[in-house]
Amino acid sequence: MSLVPLDEAQRRVLSQCPALRPLAIPLGDALGCVTSVAVTAEESVPPFANTAVDGFAVRAAEVAAAPVTLTVVGTIPAGSPPEPPVGPGEAVRILTGAPLPPGADAVVMVEDTDAWDGRSGREAIGAATATKVEVRKPVAVGVNVRAAGDDIAAGQVVFPADTVLGPGHLGVLASIGVRKVPVFPRARVGVLSTGDELVDGPEPLKPGQIRDSNRRTLLALLAEANAEPVDLGHARDDEAAVTERLVDGLARCDAVLTSGGVSVGDFDYVKVVLDRLSGGSFAWMQVAIRPAKPLAFGVVQGKPVFGLPGNPVSSMVSFELFARPALRGMMGHRSTGRPQVSAVADEALRRRPDGKLHLVRVRARWGDDGRVHVRPLGGQASHHLHAMAEATALSLVPDGDGVGAGADVPTLLLAYPELA
Ligand code: AMP
Ligand code: MG
Repeated sequence: MSLVPLDEAQRRVLSQCPALRPLAIPLGDALGCVTSVAVTAEESVPPFANTAVDGFAVRAAEVAAAPVTLTVVGTIPAGSPPEPPVGPGEAVRILTGAPLPPGADAVVMVEDTDAWDGRSGREAIGAATATKVEVRKPVAVGVNVRAAGDDIAAGQVVFPADTVLGPGHLGVLASIGVRKVPVFPRARVGVLSTGDELVDGPEPLKPGQIRDSNRRTLLALLAEANAEPVDLGHARDDEAAVTERLVDGLARCDAVLTSGGVSVGDFDYVKVVLDRLSGGSFAWMQVAIRPAKPLAFGVVQGKPVFGLPGNPVSSMVSFELFARPALRGMMGHRSTGRPQVSAVADEALRRRPDGKLHLVRVRARWGDDGRVHVRPLGGQASHHLHAMAEATALSLVPDGDGVGAGADVPTLLLAYPELA
């Protein structure tokens, strides 16, 4: 069987994973989701003209010849209605965020005033007894006033479709009274591990047994990708057992990840089951990469199933290269891959020609030259999960003898490079 180039394998998978049906979800659940349509403001922000400072609401024309003394006719704290109005010769004490009263068209900050009774402006602002204020400086119309709709005007498109909602976006939506936001929902993704050797519980290992690590890792990778992980447990190497768990998972999820059972061995039932269930969409590929060469992929009942390899590093790398981009696409993201940079190899990344692209587990840091620098981690075999766990990037070393020290190497960033 010939090896499939990585980009072709990725294309095959991605082309079969369309976006999920958009849904209006509560704002509190929408962090990291992508808007499916433009969101229009039904309210203005700020909703009313208000003061940006603590001070005195005045008629700008009256303080043009400052210093002038005005009669203080009331106080408006934030949250109160805009009263009393400011008449000729009058000022109203006003606190940041409070609405500008009728008659006023500017606010003099306390620092530019003195209380008539000799207190500083700052003291006078808190004192209901000061009935006169001396304004020391003139203000122009509109000074220290935040106009209604100054940030967002009702009727305006606040965010276009395809916006990835971050904390600030959620704040903006809250500020205009949006309770539910139309997005591509989080994909519910089941994770099933397979293998007779796997142990779930805390019991001591019997000869030949190992603990299941892939399910924990894959569930966490899903959470990190803003999907909704669903633990489907563990199936023995048995066609009926794998089928039963997979069918159960498909009933509850938008996609399923399995680990193990996709190699060429006699007990690799996942690809057998997927082949049977997927009615023609099934692909079992040997991708021209190392690690993560085997990949089984099929669409069952319209839901993508990723048969990831069992080796712990391979299963993570395969998730990064195939499942994560596909799931992000399903969740409406336009850019689906990890950021790729041209990094500087601080040490040689040596390898032998084998017809495959190698994904070397590296540690990435920002250099003083403003570039990302990478250093390979020890333990580059596909069972060396520890090095994969410590990796912050994967360097893509093309077929050949590798990359020398100081050379450029394309690198996928899995996390922020260190600053040191
Ligand atoms: P397989 O792809 O099923 O042939 O498994 C390849 C290798 O990965 C074997 O050494 C398995 O024991 C190991 N493996 C499979 N599944 C898991 C898992 N869930 N956690 C840790 N190792 C696993
Ligand atoms: Mg197995």
